[in-house]
Amino acid sequence: VPGVATVRVAMTAEKKTRRIIAIGSGKGGVGKSTLSANVAVALARRGVKVGLVDADIYGPSQPQLMNAADRKATALDKWLNPVPTEYGVPMLSMGQLVEPGRAIAWRGPMVGGALGQLVDADWGDIDVLILDLPPGTGDVQLSMISKHKPAGAVIVSTPQDLALIDATRAIDLFRQASVPLIGLVENMSGYICPHCGEGSDPFGRGGAEAAAASLALPFLGRVPLDIAIRTASDAGTPPAAGDGPEAAAFLAIADRIAD
Ligand code: ADP
Repeated sequence: VPGVATVRVAMTAEKKTRRIIAIGSGKGGVGKSTLSANVAVALARRGVKVGLVDADIYGPSQPQLMNAADRKATALDKWLNPVPTEYGVPMLSMGQLVEPGRAIAWRGPMVGGALGQLVDADWGDIDVLILDLPPGTGDVQLSMISKHKPAGAVIVSTPQDLALIDATRAIDLFRQASVPLIGLVENMSGYICPHCGEGSDPFGRGGAEAAAASLALPFLGRVPLDIAIRTASDAGTPPAAGDGPEAAAFLAIADRIAD
C-alpha cells in the first residue's frame, strides 16, 4: 500500500533527527531514575518535546515515578506506542510491558531486543529522548549505547568516594563508545533537615565537582538528599513538576543538559 510505505519512510527520517540523551551511573541507588524522570519533566516544562525510556530492565521504576504504573503500552503493527503521562512526557518502560511484580529473568540478547523496541517505538514528533540506562557498566549498557548512539550522556554520582570510582567506570564506558559526555550531576549532595530545612553535608561537599574537574567534565549541578524528593517521587509526582526548591534544582540541571 503506497500510503503505508510513505508513513514508514517519514518515521525513519524522524528517528534520525531525534536526540537521545542517556543518563547513566556506575552503580544502582544513586538517583539515576529520579534524575531521568525529573530532567524529562523539567525539559517538558521548558517547552521541549521530550520522551522517556526506562531501560532499567531489571528494576523499572519510571512507571511509578511518572504515575503511569497502571497504564500498559500498546503496539500497532510491530511498533510500540509510548504511554502518555500527565506531565507532558510520553514514556515507555519494561514495567509497562510485563505484569507488575513479575521477576524478569532474561538472557542478554533478549534484553537487547526488548530495549531496542522501547527506543525504536512510534515516538512521533519529539526532539529529545531521555534514556534511563540500567545501572552499571556491563555488556547490556555497552551494546545499548553502541546500538542507539546517544547524542550525549549524563553521569549521576553521589558524593561518596566509592560511587565516584564507579562513576569513572561509567565515564570510561561512554568514552569507549565515543558518546560525548555532557557532564556530571551530583545527587544526594548534602542533606536537608525535614524539621528545620537547614542543609548539612554528611558525605562532605564538592567531591563530584572536584571529580568532574579532574576528569575534564562539565559539572551540571547538585541535588540535595531531601525527603521531599523521595516522598514526591514515591507518590508519582516528580518534584520538577512542582514549584519548590527541588524543582529549581532540576530545571537548572535540565537547562544545562539542553544547552
Ligand atoms: P537509581 O535509579 O540510581 O537506582 P533511584 O532514582 O531509584 O536510583 O533512587 C534510589 C532511591 O533514592 C529512591 O527511593 C529515590 O526516591 C531516592 N532518592 C534519589 N535521589 C534522592 C534525593 N536527592 N533525595 C532523596 N531521595 C532520593
